[in-house]
Amino acid sequence: MAEEQVIVGLEVHCQLDTKSKLFCGCSTDYRSDGPNTHVCPVCLGLPGAMPVLNKRSIEYAMRVAKALNCSVLTESEFSRKNYFYPDLDKAYQITQYDKPLAEGGYLEIESDEGGEKRIRITRIHVEEDPGRLVHMGTTERGKYSLVDYNRAGIPLIEIVSEPDMRSPKEARKFLNKLRATLEYLSVFDSEKEGSLRVDANISIKGSERVEVKNISSYKGVEKALLFEITRQKSLLRRGQKVDRETRHYLEARGVTQSSRSKEQEHDYRYFPEPDLRPLHVQAWVDGIVLPELPDARRERFIAQYGCSLNHARTLTGELRLANFFEKVVAADPKGLAPPAATWIADTLIGELNYRNMSIDAVDADGFTELLTLLRQGTITDKSGIEVLRVMLDQRLNKQSCETPAVIVERLNVRKVISVSLEQSLSASIVPNPILTAITEVLTEQPGATEDFRKGKKGAFNFLIGQLMKKTRGCADPAELNRLLKEELTKKGV
Ligand SMILES: [Zn+2]
Repeated sequence: MAEEQVIVGLEVHCQLDTKSKLFCGCSTDYRSDGPNTHVCPVCLGLPGAMPVLNKRSIEYAMRVAKALNCSVLTESEFSRKNYFYPDLDKAYQITQYDKPLAEGGYLEIESDEGGEKRIRITRIHVEEDPGRLVHMGTTERGKYSLVDYNRAGIPLIEIVSEPDMRSPKEARKFLNKLRATLEYLSVFDSEKEGSLRVDANISIKGSERVEVKNISSYKGVEKALLFEITRQKSLLRRGQKVDRETRHYLEARGVTQSSRSKEQEHDYRYFPEPDLRPLHVQAWVDGIVLPELPDARRERFIAQYGCSLNHARTLTGELRLANFFEKVVAADPKGLAPPAATWIADTLIGELNYRNMSIDAVDADGFTELLTLLRQGTITDKSGIEVLRVMLDQRLNKQSCETPAVIVERLNVRKVISVSLEQSLSASIVPNPILTAITEVLTEQPGATEDFRKGKKGAFNFLIGQLMKKTRGCADPAELNRLLKEELTKKGV
């Protein structure tokens, strides 16, 4: 079979980070509160309750539209999407259908080949989130489910892409870039559970398209796509065909499963929402000034701090990371930026992922201090990693946090000899630290050297003791003995 081309399009639902819900004044800050505590007649859909549009959520949606190079429609409109599901107690969702807020944009990502690639955006529309079902037991064999309407009415935007992605990796890059852009716009908080959910359209060129719904974690997308592509390819290789269908992603098992329900567009009986007026917001969108976005910041990091393209991409790929970097290097951008870029991008991120920690938990001042110790050659890169791990573990375990200098002393990892920055970067060209220590000890202890010359045996042991102290017990005693004898002989002592 010829090369099977993978075609992926995404529909991304993002919660807009407003203070109140889309059509009522209920607070969106519900995650630490009990179920059904952030509800009112409007978001519960009680008879006679009238929706009032939250202006801020439309402003947020327009920022996104502008950042994604979309054109905002002269007139957009809310519609009712009618269906029954227990998490939707009013039996319709207020969304946008044939007149969405914005259409026709694009987002640039790094393609698999390395260059920039445009992923076209079909449309962006605003809608309300339904409530949330909590299944007691597993989805398949739970005894019952509980419903929580705290989430009902939270503003969402749905961003629909064209099927322009060619691999799960490109889909991940698209989501990364999209998430970063939304965070730079201050309209979205990716750290909040459930703030981003994805449906994916996947096909192998020439075959039917499958929609995979309910990918609720950001990390699940790549896995769900990989599973689905493998499933489709193996069907085709066995001469079977791929059915056009909707499947659900079962996160815990990492598989997709055919959905029994098969709604079609016309089943939803869309009609314009009678309680809300059409939107005319074009003049408003022209007045919106966008902040610095990831691409611009990436270019600035390269120009201002001399970051490599890869480091700049990584550092600006997340708002928190970019802010952390700039905070860390603020005191001395010229000196600190090169090690900061390397240490954050190549070491810190991995250590954070390993601990499932957020960059917010890292103390920027402490990190600057660690970089300074490394630059001064007080510790080696290897010890630097050890110190960093202690710093992160103390934060993670909510222990009292020591400064890097204190950790260095406690772990006893101070380098024996101070070397210059260049030397610390390449441990192999550091002069033999034992020899340097011997020279130092002999200069510092002329008395003991003289005693040894006079034949006092204790003097040799005293010098060894001094050397052990200087090398912090890191040197091999036999090696110390041999080298000290050699040096003393050379000096004619
Ligand atoms: Zn409400």
